[in-house]
Amino acid sequence: MSGRSVQERLRPALVSFEPYDPAFSPCEVNLSANENTHPLPESVNRALCEAMTSTPLNRYPDPLANALRDELAAWHGVGRSNVMVGNGGDELIFNLLFCFGGQGRSLVVCPPCFEEYKNFAKMCETDVVEVWRREDDYSIDDDALVEAARTAALIMITSPNNPTGDLVDPALVRRLLDETDALVLLDEAYVEFAPEGASLASWLAENPRLMLLRTLSKAFALAGLRCGYLLADPAIIDVLAAIRQIYSEDVVAQAAALAAVSMRDELRPVVASIVAERERLSVALSELPEVEQWPSSANFLLVRVPGAANVRARLRDEFSVLVRDFSYAPGLADCLRITVGTPTENDRLLEALRAILK
Ligand code: PMP
Repeated sequence: MSGRSVQERLRPALVSFEPYDPAFSPCEVNLSANENTHPLPESVNRALCEAMTSTPLNRYPDPLANALRDELAAWHGVGRSNVMVGNGGDELIFNLLFCFGGQGRSLVVCPPCFEEYKNFAKMCETDVVEVWRREDDYSIDDDALVEAARTAALIMITSPNNPTGDLVDPALVRRLLDETDALVLLDEAYVEFAPEGASLASWLAENPRLMLLRTLSKAFALAGLRCGYLLADPAIIDVLAAIRQIYSEDVVAQAAALAAVSMRDELRPVVASIVAERERLSVALSELPEVEQWPSSANFLLVRVPGAANVRARLRDEFSVLVRDFSYAPGLADCLRITVGTPTENDRLLEALRAILK
């Protein structure tokens, strides 16, 4: 390119970004991305196929995905005006920062947590204030968070948290709403795997600054489809509706998501089986003295093993089992994140770990 380089022409806030690397390697057992690897009930598979194949592709989608919004609203006991659908939760996180962040405004996060909050904030020229979790149990320092959030535009906390697995204390959310003026995003991407009642959806009506993020990528096993949604006050939803990429949720995704959400009761046994497997995996891991782990309310476990990067490489290369390496990440020395798989997949993982650690 003549004259200035592309980097020089680039918006300064975007200069340091690299393409996202999911650190994927082809393996027989992939427990690296917190996907749902369990088979779905035949009835759900059939409904998904039917929905996708009967959807005409020559017409543009409904920009607001209203049929899907209505079904999600009915499920959560809110109105259509409280729901916005996005191309995965990621799009909604980005759009929230695009709307409510910007120069001179800050986002408060509690790392280790989902890294896209920080990335998207930087892209949107929003300052990021990090209130690190305690090193031993990854709990949040409530006072420090409230203090940091007093002047923030936005707070993003994850419940259950990725990658630490813990639920946020509702009393902390209460304090953030009462003692700060920020918009509070509670990211409930994994909440279906937590005990009944863990979601704070029932708080929405009384708390217009509270927003909940949900996704069909986890419990609904539709990570490839790209569908997430936000539950929030209508004034927030209106803003998101106005700035969104108009057709980001395609017709196939809308149709399949509607079918899946309509059949949510039939997916309950799948979620129950993942939760049961999480407990079984956790007990089995506790029998390996080298492995430290933290309690999880999600579909994954965070573990610490000596030489984690090497353990991860051996799992991949010798046993064709892929887990996520977080050992390079601040606050997560020697940590691996293991998605809960099917019983067979979990057995493969356990057998491999026993062999490596013996
Ligand atoms: N929030 C958290 C905490 C996540 O871990 C993820 C995905 N890994 C997302 C949001 C976004 O998920 P998706 O874009 O697939 O809906």
